[in-house]
Amino acid sequence: MAENKVALVTGASRGIGRAIAERLAADGADLAICARRLENLEETVAAVEALGRRVLPYAVDVSDETAVDGMVADVKKQFGRIDVLVNNAGITKDGLLARMSVADWDQVMDVNLKGAFLFSRAAARLMMKQRCGSIVNIASVVALMGNPGQANYTASKAGLIALTKSSAKELGRRHIRVNAIAPGFIETDMTDSLADGLKDRMRDMIALGSFGKAEDVAAAVSFLAGDQSSYVSGQTLNVCGGMVM
Ligand code: NAP
Repeated sequence: MAENKVALVTGASRGIGRAIAERLAADGADLAICARRLENLEETVAAVEALGRRVLPYAVDVSDETAVDGMVADVKKQFGRIDVLVNNAGITKDGLLARMSVADWDQVMDVNLKGAFLFSRAAARLMMKQRCGSIVNIASVVALMGNPGQANYTASKAGLIALTKSSAKELGRRHIRVNAIAPGFIETDMTDSLADGLKDRMRDMIALGSFGKAEDVAAAVSFLAGDQSSYVSGQTLNVCGGMVM
């Protein structure tokens, strides 16, 4: 639960990020959210406001250092603090290793890994002064399993898990907890476009026999963001229906 906290969620225009923003608002948090275009955030803003919480939307590309630092500074100015950071924004640019372009490698690293680093750095500076905070990084089970066609994506998510552990060790003495969530197959725009045959094969690998919902990931974020998890840091929580054990 994140009652009366300020939470910043990246990539909150749809899918898992939007569900996280709505869940944290339902828990009682005020929100700062970003996506690449302001108009993409309109529905999330309306949903958070309908829950009676304040929300600040920003058009910020998470891989843009100046924009990230500017957003965090503005949130500090408007809300005074940041209690929870959720690094959720992520993209895929799939392709076999032998044919992968450097541009596709760089773009995925820039958004999924550098973006989380930039927001973690900016928020950590603030949280260190506050002497409290919770950072949640949205990784993926494929970081643990590997996945053909996703060398860039899996490497970025494995990097995110390592970033989680190192920052948890650096920031723990200031009462800042850093954890990761590794979702399995969650029904969103990102997975919609996959071929039905591939989806059937993936479903067969899931102990619970069904795909997850964005709300399942949001519930885990709610736990890691709030005080119920006050002795949990540096961990990766798999939300995957038993796909990986
Ligand atoms: P999605 O539906 O494609 O949404 C991605 C979000 O990230 C959107 O809000 C998008 O906003 C934002 N975004 C993308 N690039 C951005 C950038 N450069 N700067 C700022 N925002 C950016 O994806 P999803 O399925 O909800 O996934 C959310 C996270 O969960 C990702 O990190 C993904 O890797 C991870 N994940 C998903 C699954 C799954 O099965 N769906 C499984 C494991 C992990 P705009 O396009 O509006 O800018």
